[in-house]
Amino acid sequence: MQKKGCSEEELFSFLSSARLKDRKYEKVLSSMCTIPHPVAVKAHNMFIETNLGDPGLFMGTASIEALLVERLGVLLHHKSAGGYATTGGTESNIQALRIAREIKNLKNPNVVVPESAHFSFEKACEILSLELRSVPSDKNYQMDEEKIEECIDKNTVCLVGVAGTTEYGVLDPISYLSEIALERDIFLHVDAAFGGLVLPFIDEKPDFDFKLPGVSSISVDPHKMGMSTIPAGCLLVRDSSVFKSTEVDTPYLTVKKECTLCGTRPGGSVAAAFAVLEYLGEEGMEEIVSRCMKNNNKLIFGMKKLGYPVAAEPCVNVASFLCEDTPKGWQVSRTRYGHLRTVCMPHITEDIIDEFLKDAESMQN
Ligand code: PLP
Repeated sequence: MQKKGCSEEELFSFLSSARLKDRKYEKVLSSMCTIPHPVAVKAHNMFIETNLGDPGLFMGTASIEALLVERLGVLLHHKSAGGYATTGGTESNIQALRIAREIKNLKNPNVVVPESAHFSFEKACEILSLELRSVPSDKNYQMDEEKIEECIDKNTVCLVGVAGTTEYGVLDPISYLSEIALERDIFLHVDAAFGGLVLPFIDEKPDFDFKLPGVSSISVDPHKMGMSTIPAGCLLVRDSSVFKSTEVDTPYLTVKKECTLCGTRPGGSVAAAFAVLEYLGEEGMEEIVSRCMKNNNKLIFGMKKLGYPVAAEPCVNVASFLCEDTPKGWQVSRTRYGHLRTVCMPHITEDIIDEFLKDAESMQN
């Protein structure tokens, strides 16, 4: 830190130069985040100094968090779902596994996840001293149904299924996992960090949410397809009494106990997440999701025509192609198996897809 502060002009000129180095979202087809909706920015600024870690001081903000949980609960077929806002999918996944571990309280617990699971599960298992058991994927990059049972034993405290995988945009066999979870009395967590705000607005989709009786908890991230500001995730649970398992005493706060992972928690991005859902309503979300899916299909069709088929048919607006080269100037990513991976977020327009396809064609010459 400098002994003497600098002028505002100097400061902001420095900040602007750093900001100019940001890629922003131009020609970015790799990100699961996007430009926040204008109402999200407005709501975020309105709640900028709020701290959900001290809800007695910010009762209004806490009531918005409760409404966000209720809206997402209804969307995912459980009006009375319990939940709270997190910083995103990673935190929600860590907390879900923590709850599952605490409920069973077994020696040498293990967690059964799809091989394709987001890397947050690796972090979660390391932090929580859980053994991570990966179920191999089938040819469609989904959890192989036939290989699930052999990974489960009496020390399994949690099963995980992903609704909208990060790399291939597919769904694991969650209804099958739900049956196993009920039969064996195992906590079932669904990671719908991405798909949770896509699938409810699509007609053709398998069941993946609380409609399935075995589903115990769901991660869903408004800072992805919910166009909120960052950080905005949400952990939903079927039965809010499970939060007792992670409660600690908080003697110096306005509340006496809390079950969340973070202490100080942003209210701004939570208000932003709620604002977008409220402002757009189901119809508005349907329109945005349908545009993203249309662009995703256009990209899949165009790439196939160029000789680059998808590695797996996605259910959400993610696609991964058998394509070794990358069109110049575009930010795409690669899956663990080397496929070219794209995500058609709301900042991707039809014109951008046309431009990408043109560049993909010219890289063949
Ligand atoms: N789960 C899934 C399926 C994801 O796609 C991601 C991120 O892309 C996460 C979890 C982690 O979310 P976050 O980066 O918000 O922690």
